[in-house]
Amino acid sequence: MLIRQLFDQASYTYSYLLADTDSGEALLIDPVFEQTDLYIQLLSELKLSLKYALDTHVHADHITALGALRERLGCQTIVSHISGLACADQHVADGDKIHCGKIALTVLATPGHTDDSLCFYLAPSASNPQGYLFSGDTLLIRGTGRTDFQNGSAETLYHSLFNKVLTLADDTLVYPAHDYKGWTQSSIGEEKANNPRLQVSQASEFVDIMHNLKLANPKMMDVAIPANLQCGQKTSQPFDESKLKMKRHTAAFTTAEQIQPSDVAAIAAKGYSLIINNRPDNEAEGQPSSDEIAQAAADAGLQYAHIPIQRSLPQNAIDEMASQLQKAQGPSFAFCRTGTRSTNLWLCTLKGAEQAQAIEHAKTLGYDLSLAKQALNL
Ligand code: FE
Repeated sequence: MLIRQLFDQASYTYSYLLADTDSGEALLIDPVFEQTDLYIQLLSELKLSLKYALDTHVHADHITALGALRERLGCQTIVSHISGLACADQHVADGDKIHCGKIALTVLATPGHTDDSLCFYLAPSASNPQGYLFSGDTLLIRGTGRTDFQNGSAETLYHSLFNKVLTLADDTLVYPAHDYKGWTQSSIGEEKANNPRLQVSQASEFVDIMHNLKLANPKMMDVAIPANLQCGQKTSQPFDESKLKMKRHTAAFTTAEQIQPSDVAAIAAKGYSLIINNRPDNEAEGQPSSDEIAQAAADAGLQYAHIPIQRSLPQNAIDEMASQLQKAQGPSFAFCRTGTRSTNLWLCTLKGAEQAQAIEHAKTLGYDLSLAKQALNL
């Protein structure tokens, strides 16, 4: 058997590839739409055939790859019956088994983070003396999923944790759907002993902790939930992302080449709430003016900002960019001729480790970062 943990940097999501290496049958838990090519490459390199793609719940912070994987590989998609997603092939409930070669995953219904939350449990076997729990957002490492939206309930999560998840053997390995700090795996015993949210003696104490977290909504929420209710295939408005050479830096920020006013409605449909134009008017023949883009943005109900950049990144432009991004109600979409100036300007609005990570990621997207390096004295 093969178990591979995969990471989506933009949403801090872990996805898991499980495969029975004898039969070559595989399944993917919580795959992320933007990583679809990577999954397909890995499956092909490992000579595996994808039988199932499954989600632990309807995610608010990223778009699922269930629909894309089904379309490209012909796998079956599986979600909780509580989710009511008509787009999925199979709907599972507590106690159901998912068979993939010699792998048998048991479905545990663990509502609380969302009402449709599931964990997937792989019981110990001769080759794996410890059980594995793919815990979704129900149990995170030293944390738990939040309970303040998507029909979440702290009281329900308490019962799912204490009456179900934590009754598994202490040596059961825990693999969550997210981590924001660098943890990769844990165990039930380790979490019982060290997870601060589990150091409670009754439900009311847990509920108090959960009600006092004061978290901001995920920036992707308004995009991801509607898309995920279609299994990640939002087909109401066809939108050719490749045409615009869109590059996603984080869940909240994407850059692209010069857009046309006619692209704006599709950008809005994709869930962006702010368009930033970093190109001076009249730079090239046939370039739409800032006023034309502004009008299209207003028509589509989007915020719009024009922060023109030429050969350097003045501090007032960096400040204006930061202020516009701060005010954005959801993910932002910035463009110039190639997306390079937008990327460089955005990098200068970030700080510390976040900036360092974004620079590394922007390099992998192929952007020339000399403007930012000059502005930041790197
Ligand atoms: Fe979640």
